[in-house]
Amino acid sequence: MSVVPVFLYHAVSHTSPPWLAPYTVSPRTFVEQLDMIADSGLRVVPLRHLVASLRGGPALPARSAVLTFDDGYADFAATVAPLLAARGLPSTLYVTTGALTGAGAPPGGGPFPSVPTLSWAQVRELDAAGVEIGGHTVTHPQLDTLSRASVREEVAGCKRRIEDALGHRVDSFAYPHGYSSRTVRAVVGEAGWTSAAAIRSASAFSSERDDPLRFGRLMVRADTGRDRFALWTRGEGAPVAPFAEGLRTRGWRAYRRARAMAGRPYRALPA
Ligand SMILES: [Zn+2]
Repeated sequence: MSVVPVFLYHAVSHTSPPWLAPYTVSPRTFVEQLDMIADSGLRVVPLRHLVASLRGGPALPARSAVLTFDDGYADFAATVAPLLAARGLPSTLYVTTGALTGAGAPPGGGPFPSVPTLSWAQVRELDAAGVEIGGHTVTHPQLDTLSRASVREEVAGCKRRIEDALGHRVDSFAYPHGYSSRTVRAVVGEAGWTSAAAIRSASAFSSERDDPLRFGRLMVRADTGRDRFALWTRGEGAPVAPFAEGLRTRGWRAYRRARAMAGRPYRALPA
């Protein structure tokens, strides 16, 4: 089976508020990791090539990899995009529309406190420069704890806003915190998203047999060391999706749902 590393990054920055620090990689480490990807012989391909292969299209060449970035932090435009452009690497940026600034943005706050986020104008520029813009809901909730109607608002509302801003269709969605359920995935499909990025239990490789509406990713964190990253570039060191949802995942969801219904949602970090 062909194993596909789909790397997931959040912030690439020297500074981050404490809640985001575990998910922040320094620019220097990011460059080292891009070099390790290149040196390992992996070829970074656009996400749509993986999705096409998962949907019965042409198989991916062996040793393909994908780069994805969640949430929509300002460092993507300042730091990440120039580094990727210099290397000619494609990427997908999943934006949380309620966190984007500029015209049409809600005043104050948003889901990511104390961290600069992209503006709609920057998102349009990135789109024009060839970065794939995907959706990551409006407010970054744990979708699998919401009612179906609320899920629809988050999932379809985010798609509509991005498409209005960019003037073309967008196809790629990512679940906030990686959380989904059968119902959530059904709503995502009905809304017209053709793929959805998950985080399976922890990090996992995607593969040619993965589910396009919950494909596995490898989350690169502040504590992801060189050795682990090197293993990942060799297709080792993480399970390969698809795999059945474990008892632990289901028990954890039941706990978060109970907390949400009691009005005391579990405070998940923005993974
Ligand atoms: Zn997120």
